[in-house]
Amino acid sequence: MSLIQHRIGGVQVGGSVTAPVHDPAAGTPVGEVVLGRAPEVDAAVTAAARAFESWQDVSQARRARIMFAFRDLLERHEDELARLVTAEHGKVLDDACGEIVRGREVVEFACGIPQALKGEYSDQVSSGVDAYSFRQPLGVCAGIVPFNFPVMVPLWMHPIAIACGNTFVLKPSERVPSASALIADLYAEAGLPDGVFNVLNGDRETADALIRHPDVAAVSFVGSTPVARHVHATATAAGKRVQALGGAKNHAVVLPDADLDLAADQITAAAYGSAGQRCMAISVAVAVGAAPDPLVARLADRARAIKVGPGADPGTEMGPLISADALARVTGHVDAAQAAGAEIVVDGRGLPGPGYFAGPSLLDHVATDLPAYQEEIFGPVLIVLRADTLDDAIALVNANPHGNGTAIFTSSGEAARRYQRAVHVGMVGVNVPIPVPMAFYSFGGWKASLFGDTHIHGPEGVRFYTRAKAITSRWPEPQTASTAGDMAFPT
Ligand code: NAD
Repeated sequence: MSLIQHRIGGVQVGGSVTAPVHDPAAGTPVGEVVLGRAPEVDAAVTAAARAFESWQDVSQARRARIMFAFRDLLERHEDELARLVTAEHGKVLDDACGEIVRGREVVEFACGIPQALKGEYSDQVSSGVDAYSFRQPLGVCAGIVPFNFPVMVPLWMHPIAIACGNTFVLKPSERVPSASALIADLYAEAGLPDGVFNVLNGDRETADALIRHPDVAAVSFVGSTPVARHVHATATAAGKRVQALGGAKNHAVVLPDADLDLAADQITAAAYGSAGQRCMAISVAVAVGAAPDPLVARLADRARAIKVGPGADPGTEMGPLISADALARVTGHVDAAQAAGAEIVVDGRGLPGPGYFAGPSLLDHVATDLPAYQEEIFGPVLIVLRADTLDDAIALVNANPHGNGTAIFTSSGEAARRYQRAVHVGMVGVNVPIPVPMAFYSFGGWKASLFGDTHIHGPEGVRFYTRAKAITSRWPEPQTASTAGDMAFPT
């Protein structure tokens, strides 16, 4: 049994309160993680604040070089990181490697930070006067992250924050803490000074103390909608800059002119990959016009063929859920939908333990007022809804409180264009089921899927982690300049 500690100011720090970490494929504890309380929270923020005093003045070129070294170390340690992710999260090893690659792409973006931080310059805005602007780091930035992407989601935040000249305190999910400890080691090996990146382990109590700490300048949060709303309200009330990404209910609209085999393949992978525990998972397929029956038949064939098992076993396509609670939630939603008259086309309930396994479930004829449709299930359950027209499908998607991701499957460019313009959703795929933007764009949903006004990583990430300064400058020539001031407003 391992004991996962904090990394504060370059050293491992313990604590008196711990929680067990489970292997979801076995349902047994594999380690303990310390839970930070007020003294550790303060120590982490203080270490980051002290490191900021010098890190903010380190040259952009050196910051970029450290990111290049960190990027190479991430690549070299990909297997080790993936094994840690699979052991604590349960996802299949290939899937764990996928999140590490997508996270590494953010580091690659951060390697180009000197380009992203270039300011503006206007010569001679008045006689002998120039104007220019540049962006400066904020100070100590905090990241609070969910269990479902132990490597990728934190990488959306800290490489950009640090490359911009900030220091960082990461609070990983207490359910999957080990990968962040290795990330701290890799940063140290890459040459990052102590205290620039700190890992503060803990639970909601730790997170709450962190977002209220007076020396934290900005908070990035990713997790469920109720907690995102709470973090946004609490941190903004304390005067901090906040981006808080929440939960999702992602719809894939399938038009009758779509390639139904392609749509069924893609929707199956997007609904059941990582056991549906992705914020960009497709959890609702909206079949339009004549599409429903042939689509349901194809989805059912594919769902039944998925191999469920431990994520580390070769041949497994779908691993377990994160916890016994998650398994109970998923089963409860399917039970309630069935009791309310939904058709259970494929039933994933009742898989044997000892791990937290649910198989793929496919539900048809679900009333839209049922909790199974209204709430984020965050498990391997796909609901099929029916719509008469594309406009009806758009109205359905827009009536949902979430707006993270969506996809349309069609062979009509006109229909796709109409859909991408009309939906109130932050990320849209056209014949692409999981439209996660590349690292050089920014990631974020609308409505209850994001609180705050800045999306994460890419150009909006740079804006979030910096603030602008505008300079107006005059260097008078001694022989010609008048030193007399003008009492009127300068024009
Ligand atoms: P969660 O909201 O339970 O926890 C997220 C983080 O917040 C964890 O670090 C946790 O310790 C902390 N936390 C929990 N309760 C808190 C509270 N009351 N106050 C302060 N901090 C608290 O989420 P989870 O179960 O770990 O992750 C799954 C959720 O994350 C899903 O809803 C999923 O859609 C969402 N998610 C969203 C995105 C996105 O980009 N929008 C990405 C990944 C996951």
